[in-house]
Amino acid sequence: MHQSDRRNFIKNAAGLLVSGVMSKPLLENLTYNQTGHYKKDDLIIRKLGRTGIQLPIVSMGVMNANNPNLIRAAINAGIRHFDTAWVYQGGNNEKMIGNVLKEMAINRGEVVLATKVLLDRNSQQAGDGNIKKKNFMDRFAESLQRLQTDYVDILYYHDVWNVDQVMDPYIKEAFQQLKDEGKIKAAGFSSHVYWPEIVRKAADDGFYDVLLLSFNYAMSNDNNTVDALKYAAAKGIGIIAMKTQCQQAWYKQNVPAEAQAFYEGKIMHGALLKWVLTHDFITTAVPGFNTYEQLNEDVMVAYDLRYSPDEIKFLEDHHIKVAMNAVCRFCGECSGTCPYGVEISKLMRVHMYAASYGNYYMARITASEIEKNKGLQQCHECPVCMATCRNSVNIANRLEELKMIMG
Ligand code: SF4
Ligand code: SF4
Repeated sequence: MHQSDRRNFIKNAAGLLVSGVMSKPLLENLTYNQTGHYKKDDLIIRKLGRTGIQLPIVSMGVMNANNPNLIRAAINAGIRHFDTAWVYQGGNNEKMIGNVLKEMAINRGEVVLATKVLLDRNSQQAGDGNIKKKNFMDRFAESLQRLQTDYVDILYYHDVWNVDQVMDPYIKEAFQQLKDEGKIKAAGFSSHVYWPEIVRKAADDGFYDVLLLSFNYAMSNDNNTVDALKYAAAKGIGIIAMKTQCQQAWYKQNVPAEAQAFYEGKIMHGALLKWVLTHDFITTAVPGFNTYEQLNEDVMVAYDLRYSPDEIKFLEDHHIKVAMNAVCRFCGECSGTCPYGVEISKLMRVHMYAASYGNYYMARITASEIEKNKGLQQCHECPVCMATCRNSVNIANRLEELKMIMG
């Protein structure tokens, strides 16, 4: 998109707000085209499965953002879907979104809000399912208060790692009750493990409306993930992609400095986000931008999915492809390879939050979910680490780095 187009985009999107009040629904009067997508004024809009929700293909993952002005800028730039969670910044993330929407007098129907309930280990293992259900409902009630709203569009059961959690009758009961009471529109779950089996099971079961899953260029050779997503989408489940920028820090270990400097920023963000969104079974992505520059880089993608020559160069660069192998997919295949039982896969996620995102709060929360005898302290820093990765993640290095960061 040329500079003038970019200015028009910001102007048009901002034009939806008149004296702080949304003048006209962004998505009204759209025509449905033969490819199954909506298009208006070049902003690409897709349907979120069977939910009836329509979304621009770029949304905002708010987890790492703590600047309310960035939320305002995102709204002015045309972002309509905000993905937050009870656990992000100890609830302050939800409060920030609620305050901004109130201050800007945004009509509630003009934005799509998603939040998540994370159940800690004790709640997960509660013998009495009714206690689990109550904890789930109570936490969601707090989220509504912080967001200053009567309902959310999507509620996720956050961070599930097995089929039993997805099928949990008490959690389903909670979701159904919230739907019946009009407090949620769609039920979903998010997962940070290798999820194809879970996704297929959910698709067959038919209860969940929306799935929030990692999907990125590092998975480009993994047909199993793509097939599972296609399968779920064909059954009417809306798919939202997270972790779309591949924990970008890791490509630097394998890419010459000159190339890093060239790709950094717009080329890299544009290429990675476009790669995700060229898969039309993905409705929208929730990149976690936390600067104005990143907002602009990401939001431009919502208008044009064609790769620039530099973006193609990035995606085809041998060094980048090698680096993608060093992106941990949290598949869990390494955990059994440590003789001391260290839960490596989860620690790799802790490392991602701490070292790649600089989000120490999420790193600590995730670390606290690991059983004590499987955590970081259990790693003996053996002279030669025996843990092996199915790809090329340097497990020993990351654990050592994590010890330095987390103490
Ligand atoms: S380190 Fe490798 S094997 Fe372990 S979870 Fe990550 S990608 Fe899978
Ligand atoms: S160094 Fe490797 S093998 Fe040794 S305890 Fe740590 S993770 Fe396990």
